[in-house]
Amino acid sequence: MTSENPAPVGAEQTQAQTKTFNDLGLSPDTLRAVHESGYTTPTPIQAAAIPEVLKGRDVLGIAQTGTGKTASFTLPMIDILAAGRTRARMPRTLILEPTRELAAQVAESFDKYGKYQKLTKALLIGGVSFADQDALLARGVDVLIATPGRLLDHFERGKLLLTGVQVMVVDEADRMLDMGFIPDIERIFKLTPFTRQTLFFSATMPPEITRLTQAFLHNPLRVEVSKPATTASTITQRVVMLPGGDPRTRRAALRAVIDASDVKNGIVFCNRKTDVDVVALSLKRHGYDAAPIHGDLDQSLRTKTLDRFRSGDLKILVASDVAARGLDVPDVSHVFNYEPPRTPDDYVHRIGRTGRAGRQGASFTLAGPGDKKSLDAIEKLIGKPIEKATIEGVPEAAIGDPSDRGGRGRRAEELKREHSRRLSEKKQKYMKRDEERPTASTEPLQPKPREGKRDEPRREQRPAKRAEAPRREDRRPAREDRGPSVQGFGDNAPAFLRKK
Ligand code: AMP
Repeated sequence: MTSENPAPVGAEQTQAQTKTFNDLGLSPDTLRAVHESGYTTPTPIQAAAIPEVLKGRDVLGIAQTGTGKTASFTLPMIDILAAGRTRARMPRTLILEPTRELAAQVAESFDKYGKYQKLTKALLIGGVSFADQDALLARGVDVLIATPGRLLDHFERGKLLLTGVQVMVVDEADRMLDMGFIPDIERIFKLTPFTRQTLFFSATMPPEITRLTQAFLHNPLRVEVSKPATTASTITQRVVMLPGGDPRTRRAALRAVIDASDVKNGIVFCNRKTDVDVVALSLKRHGYDAAPIHGDLDQSLRTKTLDRFRSGDLKILVASDVAARGLDVPDVSHVFNYEPPRTPDDYVHRIGRTGRAGRQGASFTLAGPGDKKSLDAIEKLIGKPIEKATIEGVPEAAIGDPSDRGGRGRRAEELKREHSRRLSEKKQKYMKRDEERPTASTEPLQPKPREGKRDEPRREQRPAKRAEAPRREDRRPAREDRGPSVQGFGDNAPAFLRKK
């Protein structure tokens, strides 16, 4: 067990803010790459962490994305790696990321900041072939960037040794907890040498994460750059109360809210991957420039969609929390919550996509009567009530929208009709008494086109499932699609412990 150093945050940060990149102890090559990136001043976490990482100290960074935390570990690592050489199958440093997108982003950072040093790296993430990654590992790499599941797959196949790891980074640890990766992380820690340097980042510090840092970090510098529950004052937050929780009402309300806002570019967040698909398709059908992004979509499609959004070619990104967390997307003008997120922390992360760097941003959260609990939890976390907005025509637009075809009552009638049609079919087949049933023989056997379902994705339009055998990380469903869990147990929690 090691002790943490809880004290130095305030003092080091004040001092840190006056530092320049030249004061941090980075090599001329790295400084050149940093200056070429256009950065003039280190962010507080960079100023505090970089000199300590260069000295070999463990770091516990309590920071969310957008604080410059990635450069706070990649920059000093590049200089640490400049000395020494690679050995086959034994990476010298290891970076664990919860999602493929984050891993790919960190790899890009190494390319950007390490362009004047000759570093080799491998990316062990789903969606990239095992063979290519094996070949890289076999030659030996300086930096290995991986998602935990994929890393253990390689390890179990005997393709990798972690005994040469000098620096290990765990990024977005609270998201790892959320995704059930904590047992994997513990296992990976134990496979690396006790003498390694550990850099650990998390936006929040739930008890399970604190326990992990106490067990595996040695006298870390603790840098907390902003409270996880704060939301920028440049973001206008509003909630739009809906008369009911019906999905059609919600989708129509979303369109009304988008129409009433001056959207330059925006992200619509949904809690479930299925909703991401449905909402994106619905928006598209209604003429909006929208595309979905979530963990079940093919990697190349996700990358393409993100690139389009980044370049301004795509106006509305419909996303799940896991897919969007930590993504380096430009400042967006609007964030729309199709429904309040299940955890209040996610609300802070979601709306943090807008109003960056002092710019103005707006967020709207749609909430039905069933969302009260989530909304209360959010207001408690951010410490203030969210202003209620009346968007002209929302209830009317939601209920009276022609595409919704009358909402629930209509759908119930339709279901009844379909049910009786099916009954007729059965009768035809088994009782062979067509002549005695006046309606059955005249009714068409195939179901009528379902008007009310017009904006639902048809089966053939849903993204095709991958044919290959499921990878380890894919076998574990994303947090957003799993049932309730017990923190820290990942998927292994016994049923009786799972919260209802
Ligand atoms: P991160 O928190 O690591 O996800 O970084 C958020 C964004 O800040 C990224 O787009 C970085 O390129 C950018 N960034 C990192 N460090 C600096 C800096 N010192 N000055 C300006 N931008 C930075």
